[in-house]
Amino acid sequence: MERAKVNIHGIVQGVGFRPFIHKLVREYRLSGFIKNTSSGVELELEGERPELERFVADVPARAPKLALIERVETEYSAELRHFQGFEILKSRTEALRNTLVSPDIGICDDCRRELLDPADRRYRYPFINCTNCGPRFTIIKDLPYDRARTSMSGFPMCPDCDREYHDIENRRYHAQPDCCPVCGPHVFYLDAAGERVEGDAIELARAALKAGKIVAIKGLGGMHLACRCDDPEIAKTLRRRKQRDEKPFAIMCRDAAAAKKICFVGAEEEKLLNSFRRPIVLLEKRGEILSHLSENGYVGVMLPYTPLHYLVFGDDIDMLVMTSANLSDTPIMYRNAEALEKLSGIADGFLLHDRDIQTRCDDSLCFCLGGGEYFLRRSRGYVPFPVSTHEDLGMALACGAEQKASFCLSKGNYVFPSQHIGDLKNIETYDNYTRQIRHFERLFDVRPTVLACDLHPDYLSTSYAAERSEEEGIPLVRVQHHHAHMAACMADNALLGEVIGLVWDGVGQGLDGTSWGGECLVGGYRDFRRVGSIKEIPLVGGDAVTKDPMRVAWALLRAAGESTHRFKDGPAWAFMLENALNCPLSSGMGRLFDGVSAILGIKEACSYEGQGAVLLEAAAARDEGAYPVVFEEKDGVFRFDWREMIRRIVREQADGEDRGAIAARFHNTLVAMAVRQCVLAREESGLERVVLSGGSFQNMYIMRRLPAALEKEGFTVYRHRRVSPNDEGLSLGQILIAKARLQ
Ligand SMILES: [Zn+2]
Ligand SMILES: [Zn+2]
Repeated sequence: MERAKVNIHGIVQGVGFRPFIHKLVREYRLSGFIKNTSSGVELELEGERPELERFVADVPARAPKLALIERVETEYSAELRHFQGFEILKSRTEALRNTLVSPDIGICDDCRRELLDPADRRYRYPFINCTNCGPRFTIIKDLPYDRARTSMSGFPMCPDCDREYHDIENRRYHAQPDCCPVCGPHVFYLDAAGERVEGDAIELARAALKAGKIVAIKGLGGMHLACRCDDPEIAKTLRRRKQRDEKPFAIMCRDAAAAKKICFVGAEEEKLLNSFRRPIVLLEKRGEILSHLSENGYVGVMLPYTPLHYLVFGDDIDMLVMTSANLSDTPIMYRNAEALEKLSGIADGFLLHDRDIQTRCDDSLCFCLGGGEYFLRRSRGYVPFPVSTHEDLGMALACGAEQKASFCLSKGNYVFPSQHIGDLKNIETYDNYTRQIRHFERLFDVRPTVLACDLHPDYLSTSYAAERSEEEGIPLVRVQHHHAHMAACMADNALLGEVIGLVWDGVGQGLDGTSWGGECLVGGYRDFRRVGSIKEIPLVGGDAVTKDPMRVAWALLRAAGESTHRFKDGPAWAFMLENALNCPLSSGMGRLFDGVSAILGIKEACSYEGQGAVLLEAAAARDEGAYPVVFEEKDGVFRFDWREMIRRIVREQADGEDRGAIAARFHNTLVAMAVRQCVLAREESGLERVVLSGGSFQNMYIMRRLPAALEKEGFTVYRHRRVSPNDEGLSLGQILIAKARLQ
């Protein structure tokens, strides 16, 4: 006999880890105890040495899927303590046990098998779940996490479920949302008028969908609107009713094989689609078959993640449009009454149920890059899983930006990024934002002692932070937008020290009062300096340019000395510019994309932000050379002077050159420009690590080329992995900067 002391570091609390260890210990017939520590759990076990060794090897191999084991340390000793049985000890750090709340988990294979097994007591029961799957974050009202503090509180367990819940050998041991047709929630179907329809709710919904109707379906974190994919007329009707002119729709496919019929699915993408987190993965379309659903080269695909979805698909539906039920910029609907009221006139039927959604949570959206997620939106399936950090950050709240708002809360070595919130300028969204902040603070038992916000005085997140700072006497750190992006990518990759940061996005307030967005920075968490940028573009009419990129096209052409005769509003814009009337200067990379897209006639009016850039990327043919890169230096900042590039584009266009080739050369020029800027930054700073952040790095044409081009020059390149490169990920950076500044 020997005694083993095993220290397991990582995210292993609140993820079903202790019941898992308990079972494993019984399997190996060991004795001892487990207790939580500040960085994980500690075990002491006695048994024969080979058994102990096999046990230790089995822990990471069989751990619950949400557990993140970073390190296992084992010490053996001949000195026995003669443990009797196995004990779960309360420890000093017990409070930390509540630190982790599980995200919602897509239905597991075991539950799916039971769902379709006529002999099972949960056959075709749309709320089947177990310890390994089911709703979590979206049904939790408060902690500690048990049934009474979830939306399941109104459904007391029947004796059968209760027996499973208390049986350590059972897959439903301590599964809080466990239920069955006898004791759990139920689905029902309502018609367009909101009247309950008698009959099998799921069959009614299936019949309506097959007949080409639009059906609202209650999911995990909110309502979806579903309809057939194959009929452009139905998609058009949905767009019209939803007032969603051109934004792409996401699709839910019954399985990866169905997805392969409409898009290219690599092995890594298939794995991500099938992962228990079930994000929407952006996949390259096969040809033009889905142009009525997505106008660019990609389509967002997800697989069913609730038992209800599987039942709706049945044996004969391959794919459905599955778009969030919301109107223009309002948050996703999540309450039955709200859906019935606001979707009246939009949905032809409603497949609802009586388990409340406590917390809204949109579907996550990502590309698959290097085998992992590259987020555009980190939400359901991921939130509220924390990002672990290198140092203790104490308790702080970072309030994020505005359009793609999110916030981050820190507690010790964990940062909890919020789910996707949306554009705060919408009042309902703002209301949800403030409520979610309070919800997270209660859930994780955090009272912030530091606040961080953006430098932009007009962001609603800034005024929220300022108000709380004043009312509660909490110090507030205002963080420059692109510095926050850079720090977010550093924290995302656990980097310390200083780096070169390429930060490209639409707009963010700069230190000099102009708006920035095509930046090359050098620095760390505490400070930064600007070493590169792009030549400023005058934004005629300010924010009006985001929907009207012709204004940017005009400004670019005018600056390059090219003809602007075709712009009928040109003289009015010239007057505004000459008299400095609402013409702020911007070095925003997003604007350069919009402008070039409009010059090429790809997108002359945008119905959503970034549309021009997305379509320009879609137009880009494969590698076709680049335009010359010219810099102008001003106060130590190397600015990319795009005028020569614009002149070449105009000339090529006049010569009848292919638009795809011009679009590709434009992208390649930016890649070459970025490499040159980094080389200049390295000469000055000696730094070789480059982080890439900002919404423009959602451009896959650039993401598939820039890192390789930089690596060829000897740089080590880091991109986002755990949070989004766009403004949604920026609160992570704010929190680290605030902490560094206050030290
Ligand atoms: Zn399950
Ligand atoms: Zn039951």
